[in-house]
Amino acid sequence: MLSKPYLMVPGPTPVPDQVLAAMHRPMINHRGPQFAALFQEVNDGLRKVFQTKHDVLMFPSSGTGVMEAAIVNLFSPGDKVLAVSVGAFGDRFAEVAARFGLNVEKMDFPWGLAADPAQVAARLAGDTAGEIKAVLVTHNETSTGVVNDIAAISAARGQHPALLVVDAVSSLGAIRLEMDAWRLDAVITSSQKALMLPPGLGFLALNERAWQYAEQAQLPRYYWDARQVRKSLAKGQNPYTPPVALLFGLAESLRLMEEEGLDNIWARHVRLRDAMRQGLKALGCGLLAPDAVASPAVTAVLPPAGLEAKTVQKYMREHWGITVAGGQKKLENKIFRIGHLGYAAAMDIIVALAGLEMTLAALGAPVAPGAGVAAAEEILREA
Ligand SMILES: *Cc1c(COP(=O)(O)O)cnc(C)c1O
Repeated sequence: MLSKPYLMVPGPTPVPDQVLAAMHRPMINHRGPQFAALFQEVNDGLRKVFQTKHDVLMFPSSGTGVMEAAIVNLFSPGDKVLAVSVGAFGDRFAEVAARFGLNVEKMDFPWGLAADPAQVAARLAGDTAGEIKAVLVTHNETSTGVVNDIAAISAARGQHPALLVVDAVSSLGAIRLEMDAWRLDAVITSSQKALMLPPGLGFLALNERAWQYAEQAQLPRYYWDARQVRKSLAKGQNPYTPPVALLFGLAESLRLMEEEGLDNIWARHVRLRDAMRQGLKALGCGLLAPDAVASPAVTAVLPPAGLEAKTVQKYMREHWGITVAGGQKKLENKIFRIGHLGYAAAMDIIVALAGLEMTLAALGAPVAPGAGVAAAEEILREA
C-alpha cells in the first residue's frame, strides 16, 4: 500500500513546499553582498517575530546549543540562578547551567501544570541580598504540552533585578510572545519548531540589560560568543560559515509568516489546540494539561484506560503513516504527544484524530466512529 507520511511530532515539524523550494538553490559567498542583503532581510523579519527592536543573533545549532549560548554569554562561575521547571526542557535548562558551574536553585512544578508566578514573586522578594542573577524558564514545555505565563513571570520580578531568560524554542512563532513589551531579557528559539524550517539554526535575542551581563560574564566562550556574532552581524555576516540554505528557507518562511500576520498565526494555533482537545475528549482520551494552561503548540495525550501509549503510537505509525511523539523521562509510555505547530492547519487535526480513532478502535477501545472528528469540526467550523 502507498504509505504517505504525516509528521506530527513537536519538532522537527513539516516544512512548506515554498520553503523547501527556496532552499534548493546554488550556494552563495557568505562574505559577499548577496548574503549581506539576505542577512539583513531575515534579521528584519526575525525582529518582528520576536517582537523586539534588538538584534536576533543566529547560531548554526539546535535549540539546546543556544540554551548553552545563553548561559555562557550571560553568567560567571558561581552565579546564582533560579531555574523554574515544569518538565523535561525546564530540567534541561537547569542542567546546562549546573554543568557550567552556576549555583542553580530549582523551582519545580508538577509535570502537567504551569509555573505559579506568585511563587516566583515570593522567592525573588525573599532574595533581599539580590543574589539571584537570573530566572531561567521555559515558555512552552514541549514534554508536557503546558504553556507558562511568561508575561506574569516577568512581572513577578517586581523591583528585583534578575534577568529573565526564556526558552521559547517551541513557542516563538506559534504562541504569543512579546519580548520587549514583556521585558524579557533573553529569548531563545530554533528553526525546526514553529518557524517551519528544517533543524539547524538557533536564535538568541538579548536586550540592553542582557548585553551588560554579556560584557561582564566570565565563562569561557568562543563559538558561542554573542559579542562576536553581533560584530559580524553589523557587517551582514556570521562569524563562522552559516547554513546558507537554511537562511534561504528562513527568508521564505518569514515571508509566509508576514503574509499571514502574527495575530492570525497565534489565533490559528489556539484554534487547532481547542479542536484537538475537543476531539481527544470525544475519543475517551485523557489530557495531561488542564485547559487553562494547555499548549497551543503540542498536546500531551493519555490513552484510554488499558492501552499503552507506545502501542497506540506504533499502530498509528505502522497503519496510518502518522508519526506522533512519545512521552519523555517519567512520562515515557504514559502519554503520547501530537504536534500542531508551525505549518499546521485544520485538516491536520482531522487527520490525526481520524487516524487515532481508527487506531483505538482496532486496539479494542470503545470509540464511536467519527466522534473525534465531529467534535473537532464543531470548533474548526467556527473559524
Ligand atoms: C525542542 C526544544 C528544545 C531544543 O531541542 P533541540 O533538539 O536541541 O533543538 C529546547 N526547549 C524546548 C522547549 C524545546 O521544545
